[in-house]
Amino acid sequence: MNDEQKNKNRKRGGKNFHRHFSSSKNKDKREVTHLLPDITGSVVEKDTFTPAYLKTKHNKKTERKIKIPEKRKVYNEGFEDTVFESNFEQSQKNKNITSESRVPPIKDGVLRIVPLGGVEEIGKNMTVIEYGDDIIVVDCGFQFSEAETPGIDFLLPNISYLEKMKKKIKAIFITHGHYDHIGAIPYIVDRIGNPPIYSRQFGAYTIEKRQAEFPDLPTLNMNIIQGDETMTIGKHFKISFFAISHAIPDSMGLIIETPVGKIAFIEDVRLEHINGVPTEKEIKRYAQFKNEEMLLLTMDSTSVEKPGFSIPESRVIETINEIMKNVPGRLIIGTFASQVERIMEFIKMSQHYNKKVVIDGRSMKTNIEIVRLLNLVKLDNIIPIEEMKNYPSNKVVVIATGAQGEEYSVFDRIASKTHKFIKLEPSDTILFSASAIPGNERSITRLKDNLYRQNAKIITYADSDVHASGHGNRGELEWIHKQIPHRFFIPLHGYHFMLRIHAELAESLGLPKSNIVIPDNGSVIEITEHGKKISMRKEKAPSDPVMVDGFSIGNMQDVVIRDRRLLAEDGIFIIVATINARTGKLRKSPDIISRGFVYLRESQELLQQTRLIIKKVVEESTAGSYPINFDYIKTNITDSVRKFLLQQTDKKPLVIPVVLAV
Ligand SMILES: [Zn+2]
Ligand SMILES: [Zn+2]
Repeated sequence: MNDEQKNKNRKRGGKNFHRHFSSSKNKDKREVTHLLPDITGSVVEKDTFTPAYLKTKHNKKTERKIKIPEKRKVYNEGFEDTVFESNFEQSQKNKNITSESRVPPIKDGVLRIVPLGGVEEIGKNMTVIEYGDDIIVVDCGFQFSEAETPGIDFLLPNISYLEKMKKKIKAIFITHGHYDHIGAIPYIVDRIGNPPIYSRQFGAYTIEKRQAEFPDLPTLNMNIIQGDETMTIGKHFKISFFAISHAIPDSMGLIIETPVGKIAFIEDVRLEHINGVPTEKEIKRYAQFKNEEMLLLTMDSTSVEKPGFSIPESRVIETINEIMKNVPGRLIIGTFASQVERIMEFIKMSQHYNKKVVIDGRSMKTNIEIVRLLNLVKLDNIIPIEEMKNYPSNKVVVIATGAQGEEYSVFDRIASKTHKFIKLEPSDTILFSASAIPGNERSITRLKDNLYRQNAKIITYADSDVHASGHGNRGELEWIHKQIPHRFFIPLHGYHFMLRIHAELAESLGLPKSNIVIPDNGSVIEITEHGKKISMRKEKAPSDPVMVDGFSIGNMQDVVIRDRRLLAEDGIFIIVATINARTGKLRKSPDIISRGFVYLRESQELLQQTRLIIKKVVEESTAGSYPINFDYIKTNITDSVRKFLLQQTDKKPLVIPVVLAV
């Protein structure tokens, strides 16, 4: 592609985005469109238009029905036939109630900001903005589980603060369609009274598509934002929007006008730039802030540690364009499904070189369906994976998920030679247009090992500019700080240390320390004295994460997690004891089943001693008591065996006694 073409391409992309952001003819204030545009761009009423994905019957097997029991109960270890609430649950409840009741109701004239999630992690972003009788919520995301919560699917923000004030909640605004900003909606929205959700098209479609996987839930009250409207929400808020650069179409920032001043609310953000100089488009977007001081600025802190400006997305595209042009055979690209704008560029590029595109990976296919629905790029060169073999290999590009080496992902299956359609050939080139997410290093190493064993040619971001993050580096954030005059600053979106570094950046740009608040999840921040003072209350809203584990959700899952960790570290030890119900004596030597603890065959001595202990405990526990108290026996067996095993092995397996009476 020569420079002229490149420019043309870039312009086209820009225009496209602009069209989608500001083409609304509806300039009426307060006017909110309850409309979904069809794929030709004309507008039809929601009632008469059902997006294609809603018409398709989804697979019953993959359906997930979430039922939230009124009162959650757990099976405690060692008492598999008794169901009761553990002390732990009780203490959690008490903790929640006390901290909750300690946050007093909001006072007149006070603006409250409560980040419920997203400021102690990358994920589960959700922020409450409260004034008088009005609450608006920005974003409603989830977080993928980490090593500390084995087996958990993901974590949700704690919404106890909002549940108490359902009636005050006037709207949820979605900054963009990434799961760390929308993922919690199916689990949360009906619990806070199903308030109207306002999102731009791409996010709205992603949300609706996901909601369709939960047929038991009420229909969402979804409203599409065009981008140039101003909405009055409740008595106290007036909201307008502006486009920002990120990695997914339709990303936006909010300007929230409150009785004490305006908030420029920015979540995920990067800049379009050339060698550290922001493009005309960016300069224009931020010029609107020039002449007015914002009361408060909030912003993404994810990449604040990285100096300067990030690699411009345009250079990433140019580099990959060169690679695509020159590969001798198939190009297999691994990237994040969330990099929607880049995937759209890959598709355009392959059209230019007359190549067919195979999309593999569920989340990526979902995003491509939405791209199709919104008609953002031509998709006529996309072919089903089964047809790939009908084309010469240098005419095929595969775009797939799993570049982090996630188990059973597309790349994991390619690397382990178990992918049904993709077997590596010597002429293949693998391109990882992604960086390692902290915590995934081990699985990525394993993936690369397995790919290199097959003599694959691999290109990663370490070799050339084939990836840039959707989150701006320090230099970009600094530039945005300077464009938006503001009195107060709250860093968002990141781990605590990132927020700290972002706060230091704000201070280095001249903002007094007292005008910056670094929140934790659940911090209650108040702007008082007619917008002159910002402070954090000493009381906190409940912030323990809520866990989604298969079909169940709750914040009382810690007992389960503790057991999983125990099982992983020290294994399980099951004792089956058969007792004569009349005499209270063991009928035979107890059976012992164990996994992941010690190698039983080499531990006969240990088992023999354990059996003797069990025999003694059973006889002591039943002596003189009739009828026999089985719970009492079980507790005694658990305690004695646990203590003995710890003394002998320095391990604490999960001990489960099963007592049978015959
Ligand atoms: Zn994002
Ligand atoms: Zn995000």
